[in-house]
Amino acid sequence: MIDKATFDNKKRIIIKVGSSSLTHTTTGHISLSKLEQFVRQVADLKNSGREVIVVTSGAIAVGVSALHLDKRPIKLDDTQAVAAVGQASLMMLYQKLFREYNHVVGQVLITKDLIDHEERKQNAIRTFASLLNYNVIPIVNENDTVATEEIEFGDNDSLSAIVAELVRGDLLILLSDIDGLYDKNPKLHPDAVLIHEITTIDDSVFAMAGDTHSKIGTGGMVTKLLAGEVANKAGIDMIIANSVMPQVINRIFSGEQIGTYFKAKPLV
Ligand code: ADP
Repeated sequence: MIDKATFDNKKRIIIKVGSSSLTHTTTGHISLSKLEQFVRQVADLKNSGREVIVVTSGAIAVGVSALHLDKRPIKLDDTQAVAAVGQASLMMLYQKLFREYNHVVGQVLITKDLIDHEERKQNAIRTFASLLNYNVIPIVNENDTVATEEIEFGDNDSLSAIVAELVRGDLLILLSDIDGLYDKNPKLHPDAVLIHEITTIDDSVFAMAGDTHSKIGTGGMVTKLLAGEVANKAGIDMIIANSVMPQVINRIFSGEQIGTYFKAKPLV
């Protein structure tokens, strides 16, 4: 059973926040009120004595606003240029907002080749350890400015699971625009039912995400389930919850039955 006790001993928390949870649905531009509410909750979680690592999207959305564009560019080099502008502005916003609550942030940009290079991987592990030791909240994103297909994660769900594994986290939280995993896509099926707990991510679970044959996806629920596989395999529990729900992070830690909890099997 998932209750408050489940969360009491979870001390190292990785929180991934999706673009949709940080932007205006109408314009796609960054939503300062969504960002502020998110930062406030993370600051409070840190104040409760936990270590927090944030994996954030939103660099392109911020870049689009900063450059006064009406939409995301299509070409890769233009998108990366927008990301370069946006990442800097996004960090400035995080720094400003976290500073209001007396917290220091550090920027960590990652590309996927990290996983295959033992030396780089160990270096990243040590850097995260040092940041946490300094009481910093690491803010992680894919290095969009240089990442090309071969070295990109492609989505921050996968990135957050890798980060959780690198730092040996206790819990991975994916904040999305949806309450959790439903037995079928609720945007297409109004009668879909929210699943509260998953103990094994098997083909029947992937089928709920609308992808019965392949596990390849570009966002949506499939990448969240893939992230769940990586996290659970590393012995890390994961929860998907809705960022729109007021005080969602606090409510998770109070043991309220919200979201979908993916329980890892104990490592042998
Ligand atoms: P984010 O931007 O927060 O990472 P995504 O939009 O990528 O979120 O993924 C969430 C979306 O996945 C939902 O809005 C929904 O449209 C889709 N989806 C597909 N199948 C399911 C399902 N079984 N349960 C919940 N959401 C689903």
